[in-house]
Amino acid sequence: MTQTEPPIRLFIAPVTPLQQNCTVVWCTKTNKAAIIDPGGDLDPILEEIKARGLTVEKIWITHGHADHAGGAAELKERTGVSIEGPHEDDQFWIDNIPSMGQRYGIANMRSFTTDRWLKDGDTVTLGETTWDVIHCPGHTPGHVIFYHAPSQFAQVGDVLFAGSIGRTDFPRGNHADLIHSITQKLWPLGDVRFVPGHGPMSSFHQERLGNPFVGDRVVGKTAPNVQGPG
Ligand SMILES: [Zn+2]
Ligand SMILES: [Zn+2]
Repeated sequence: MTQTEPPIRLFIAPVTPLQQNCTVVWCTKTNKAAIIDPGGDLDPILEEIKARGLTVEKIWITHGHADHAGGAAELKERTGVSIEGPHEDDQFWIDNIPSMGQRYGIANMRSFTTDRWLKDGDTVTLGETTWDVIHCPGHTPGHVIFYHAPSQFAQVGDVLFAGSIGRTDFPRGNHADLIHSITQKLWPLGDVRFVPGHGPMSSFHQERLGNPFVGDRVVGKTAPNVQGPG
């Protein structure tokens, strides 16, 4: 039996006092990497990337909150790569990054200018891999997630967590939109393994079984049922 290399690999680096899951994903054919949600604490991430022999190709942003995007401007200056995301409805959050950083006591949080706003149905590329962009408003109006269908893997930011969902009590947050995003846009993708914005990894199957906010027992079976791996 031959062992085939998966098309992507990843490592997770919790950053800022909010322990946000900055996620480095890379194309294993080209060793080109995307840094998703560089909230801050960039030095150890860039060292790890170098140690693994990866080249940074993209910066991807799920939404405009400071703990996810506060290091994007500096990272762009240090790597010279472009920033993709979030959706333009998060512009007001991006403008707010410095003051939100101050409120959380995090130094050097900066606003940034994206090179490409993303919208539902867009694709982004990394090395030889192609990822789907899904607009998932609710936690913020311009929140997007990055989904690699061939691997059934997604980075979902603050949309969904293991056992919880994103807060919707911020300006322009909307609980009904968030529930709709999760049950109508994420669940139909099948049993996807995901990295959330905070906390441990999980899968859509696990969350449909037991999540107290969006589990099937709570919201009903609103998407085709999916048989997980066990
Ligand atoms: Zn957030
Ligand atoms: Zn967050």
